[in-house]
Order: sequence, then structure tokens, then C-alpha cells
Amino acid sequence: MADVMTICPYCGTGCSMSLSVTDNKIIDINGDPTHPVSEGELCLKGMYGFKHVADPGRLTTPLMRRGDSFVAVDWDTALDAIADQLGVIKKESGPDAFAVFSSARATNEENYVAQKFARAVLGTNSVDHCARLCHAPTTVGLTMTLGDGAMTNSIPELGDVSDLIFIIGSNTAECHPLIAKHVLKAKARGAKLIVADPRMTDMANKADLWLRIPLGHDIPLINAMLHVIIKEGLQNTDFIRDHSNGFDDLARAVEDYSPERVSQMTGVPATDIAAAGRAFATAKAAATLYAMGVTQFSCGTGNVVSIANLAVVTGQIGRPGAGVCPLRGQSNVQGACDLGALPNVYPGGRPITSEPDRLRFEEAWGVALSPKVGVKITEIPAAILAGKVRAIIVDGENPMMSDPNTQHFAHALEKLDLLVVIDLFMTETARRAHIVLPAGGWGEKDGTFTNTERRVQRVRPAVLAPGEAKADWWIFKALAERMGYQGMAYDRPKDIWDEVRRMAPTAYAGMTYERLETTHGLCSPCPAEDHPGTPVLHAGGLFHTPSGKAALKPVLFHPISVPEEERKAFDAPIIGHIAERPDNEYPFMLTTGRRVYHYHTGTMTRRAPLLEQIGPEELIEINPADANALFVRDRQYIKINTRRGSVIAKAWVTERVPPGVVFSTFHFWEASSNEETNADNLDPLSGIPEYKVSAAQVTKSSAADAQASVAAKREYYRQDVETAAIVEMRAHAAASA
Ligand code: SF4
Repeated sequence: MADVMTICPYCGTGCSMSLSVTDNKIIDINGDPTHPVSEGELCLKGMYGFKHVADPGRLTTPLMRRGDSFVAVDWDTALDAIADQLGVIKKESGPDAFAVFSSARATNEENYVAQKFARAVLGTNSVDHCARLCHAPTTVGLTMTLGDGAMTNSIPELGDVSDLIFIIGSNTAECHPLIAKHVLKAKARGAKLIVADPRMTDMANKADLWLRIPLGHDIPLINAMLHVIIKEGLQNTDFIRDHSNGFDDLARAVEDYSPERVSQMTGVPATDIAAAGRAFATAKAAATLYAMGVTQFSCGTGNVVSIANLAVVTGQIGRPGAGVCPLRGQSNVQGACDLGALPNVYPGGRPITSEPDRLRFEEAWGVALSPKVGVKITEIPAAILAGKVRAIIVDGENPMMSDPNTQHFAHALEKLDLLVVIDLFMTETARRAHIVLPAGGWGEKDGTFTNTERRVQRVRPAVLAPGEAKADWWIFKALAERMGYQGMAYDRPKDIWDEVRRMAPTAYAGMTYERLETTHGLCSPCPAEDHPGTPVLHAGGLFHTPSGKAALKPVLFHPISVPEEERKAFDAPIIGHIAERPDNEYPFMLTTGRRVYHYHTGTMTRRAPLLEQIGPEELIEINPADANALFVRDRQYIKINTRRGSVIAKAWVTERVPPGVVFSTFHFWEASSNEETNADNLDPLSGIPEYKVSAAQVTKSSAADAQASVAAKREYYRQDVETAAIVEMRAHAAASA
């Protein structure tokens, strides 16, 4: 038996783990007691979510669609067909007829190669990944205000140093359990915990102060905290003077957000709002933790900028334990952003509109590059329907379940000339593809992940990929060569990483594989081989904005619409509102999120028997008052219907949600909330959809209706196509043996 150290494939905490391997099988997983973040522990997903690696449903050979089913083919046939068709489309429609979906679960090396393939081989900047759907407002909002779109501090600082932790819009205990552990460690040390959340999450239950704001009211809450801080002279005047611009405008903007007015708007007692503001400003080291309860709004960027405003005005940034901490949801979503799997930046975060940067990449990659910003994932359906995008390569994502308004997305996919999916399984998206390519996955791949605190860590292979499955980077390289591009002469991930270090030296030059091999990773930036990495960003009040100072910005909010005269009083304020509000026809608000035992579209965790046993089905949270009014008892079926679609699932009657709000997830194809979410109300600055609010109808349903609904979803998600593909792959393997 061998033990292989690697990093958890799930959330962005980046816990280290040891895989016990026998006969090319992972048979057990243990935590790593030496790791500074996970300290020997793992959550349910980390501990039990590895069974997918050896699942019999793994893709083992390339598949090409013939009518409604798929036939197994060899790699040459599949790659030649893709390269030929990409060539034809490029000739007919130009390079912007393509889009590449990269993956936050792929390694840094794979993301680098995917974006290079899009830019240097296809000729388009239309490369994006699921950060668009989770933390795009973080990238935009923190870059705009602080100069870096990333968590400013390391995770252990929370437990060791922070004396106040403000959690807003993060269900930390369920979505980042091992970060929650550091929060509880801080609390046990005497740190104060303030939570702002519409739902009574586990952290809200443990808070010293819980501010139960209505959905989407983060901006007025933070503005009111700032109002109190400035009115009582608790701002950090020296820090504001020396390290920021724009304070006067911000101070003027928050004048209107008295705790009393915001209390009327939110129902949160004015005294609690004032107490939160005072505690935050007077703490020795206050950290703000946030996640998708902040970002997934049509004003997601405004929410993030508000958080940055609060940190800068109080000087709670740039020191150990004090800072802004976006908690990233996937194992390598920070890395995918940093490696340029976005339509507007190159690796290292350099804008593609910057000519010197473009020339540098052109010289290194040996091709002319497009200066045009690419299409975002959330703009792709419209671009397909308009005939602008004709071919998509989806690498390790499942947009048929993860993107908003999936019916609209499915309709767009049908119009594509070519859909190629690279994945571990015949996902809901793969079933609609023209060509499906089998990928090596976690436990099989070599490379690096970057966790939410910018820690770049080695990911190591423990077992061989099944059948003919190949690493994602190998697939892009093979396609590039077929399309006549020779600039991907990589033999192994280390070759790619060394190119990354050359092309993004400020962030990575000092991170050799050798150093990463002997440490628990290094936090970027790490510009030289003798540099220790950077656990705390903005030390000494240095911000990577054009002025070198933090850029404070007024953020205005009104639930329906900010009045014109208020907007005009400021130079380019950020505006927030709730895009789809309840009305007489759709009187409830549906909000969406995750459960501790499953991960995103369930592609991996639903193949882990223990996790599936604990969390076998969707449960929709509904407040007891609403349940009583509908004559619904706990675990009886209810139907949620929005203007996009409907699902039926069992009710979980609970005070976790306030009256008028229902909560569900997108883990289960049988009742996925993304059939109901809205793809139209995008944040204008980041393009993220408003997953957190959809106007909804809620009605009592029945077991018979639930059964009929599952049958319909089975057809909609083409479950039988997966079964047939597995039979086909087994027959192919038997014939080739
Ligand atoms: S907290 Fe996140 S990274 Fe750690 S074991 Fe759990 S899912 Fe994995």
C-alpha cells in the first residue's frame, strides 16, 4: 500500500490529505496533521467524497454522437473530427465563433493551457469558467477598489489573530467547514462573531450578533455601519488619508443610510446595526468573510465594493487577521482566475486590452492575439442564439445544471454546430454534446491548485486514469498540434508551470515545483525563489491600483430602483437593487445555495455512497408560518414555480428561512433549482446572474406529482443516454481487449 499526499478536490479551503492506495485504487483518505489550514481534519466531502474516482460510470473512451446515441471511437478519430470542424468554422465565421469553458476543478496548468488554446490556437478571448457564476464580482470589485481580486489574508490568521470576524453572505459551516473551524477557534479565544444573513445558518446560530437582513440588502447594511462609524468618528483617519482616495464622496453617500432608515428597510434593529459598526471599527483586527450570499446578485459587485469600503475606512486591512476574505467555492477557482481563464485578462491578471502585455504574450506564444475582450459564460446563450458563437469546448463543467435558467441554456446548446465536452462522466451537458472526451480526474492528475487564500499547492496522482482517459492539458495540446500550432511542446505539467512562472513572474516566479514539493504551498505573489510568499496582501497600505491607494466608491441601494437625483449627486456611483421582486402572481422569493454533504451539480459527490445516503434528495426549506398557511407538513411535497421552470421536492419546515423565502439547491437533477433561476438579470459590472433571488409560487404537491416530475426530468436530462453510453464504452473496451 502507498500513501500519496494531495489536495482535496472540493471547496476552496484546499485541505491537504493522504490517499491510501492499493492495486491502483484509493481505499482510504486521512487528513494531514501538519497542514496549516486543515490541521489533520477533513469535512464529510473531503473524507468520503472519493468514490467517484473508481466509479463504473467513468468515461473511458472518446464518444461521438450518432443520432440520439453515442458511439465509441479512438482518439485520432475524435481529435481529427474536432480539429476539422473547428477549422471549417474558423474559415467561415472567424475566431469569435468559438468559446472555451475552462474549469475551476482543473489544475492551474490545465487552465493555463485551456486559455492559451482559446487565445493562441482558436484566436478568441472567449474563455471563461464558473467563477463567472460565483465570484466574478470579487474579481471585479476587489480589483477596482484594492487592486487585487483575492482574499487578502491567510486562513490560519482568522483562528490565531482576528478579534472580530464579520461573516456576511457565507454559509461557512456547510460550504467551507474547515474555515468555520478557524472561526470557532477565534471565538473560543474571545473574538467576537457578527453574522449578517437572511438564513439562520449554523454560523448565525453561533454569532454574538446576528443581523437577519432581507435577501440582497447587504449594501444598505454596510452603508449604515459606515454611517455610524463616520458619525461617531471611529474611522481610521490616518489610513484613509495616507492610503485611500474617494473618502469624501463615500462619506456623503452614507449620510442617507442612518441605522434608523436602514432598520425600516431591513427589519434589523437600528441598535444592532450601530453595535456592529462600532465593534468592527474598534476591533484590533477585524476580518470580513463572504461568499455567494454577497456575490450572486445583480448588484454583486456593489456588495463586494461595500465590503472593501468598510475595511479601508476602518483600516481593517493589510495586517495579520484584518482584511477582506472572499471564500472561493471550488478547489481551484482562484487559480483558474489567476491563470487567465477569463475573457478579459491574461495569466497573472494582465488586461488583454493592454498593448504591452498583448505584445509580450504574442512574442512568447508566437502568434498574433486578439485585442477584443471575449464573451462571458453568461452571455453565451444569447451569442449562440444570435449565430455569433457556433462551437464550444466545455472542459470539466456542467452548465446544463449549474447555469441559470437551464431550459434557455439547453435551447441554445441545440443550435451549436459543435459542442465538445471533456469530462469524467457523461454529465447532463455531455449528453447534449457532439463529441465527448474522457478526462483524467482528481487522484489521477499532476499539477497545482490555488486555494482561496492564494496558496498554490501540489496536486499529485495516486492512481492511473481509467481506460483511455487523458489529462486535459494533453487533450488541448493534441488538438493544438492538429490545428497547426506547435507552441505547446509540453511533456508534463511541470513544463507548463515553468512557462506560467515566466509569463506571470510577479505572482509565480519564485514557486518552483521543488519548493512546492517541500512546503505546504506558497501564497502568491511570490516573485523570487528566495521570496517567502505573501500571506497578507496590502501590507503597509500598499494597493495595486493605478494610484497605489485604495479607491473608495459610493454604493447606492434601493430595493426597487435608486432615484435619479440620488444617482446624479455622485460621480459614477455603483447602483444596487433587487432585480426580480415578489408580486401578487409570484409572492415568494426563492434563494439558492448548497448543502454540506454535496457539491455543486452532484457529478462527484452523488457517486459517494455515504454522502448519497446522508443527503439522498432535495429538501426545500420553508418557514413554518408559510407551511401552515399552505397546509404543508414537514417532508410533504411542495412545488416551486418561477417564470422559468418548476421543481417538486419535499419540504423542510424550518426557521432557517424567514417567512416569504424558500431555499433550494442545484445538487439533484430530480429537482434542480437552476431550472428556476434567472439568466436575464446580470450584474452589469461582472456579468454574474442573480441566483439568490427569484420570484416564486409555492404550492402543496403530492407524491404522485413528484413521481411524474422525476420521470419528466429524467427525459429532460437524458438520463438514458448515459446508461447507453456506458454500455457502448464497455463493449468497445471488450472488443479492444
Ligand atoms: S473543507 Fe473543503 S477542502 Fe477541506 S475537506 Fe472539506 S471540502 Fe475538502
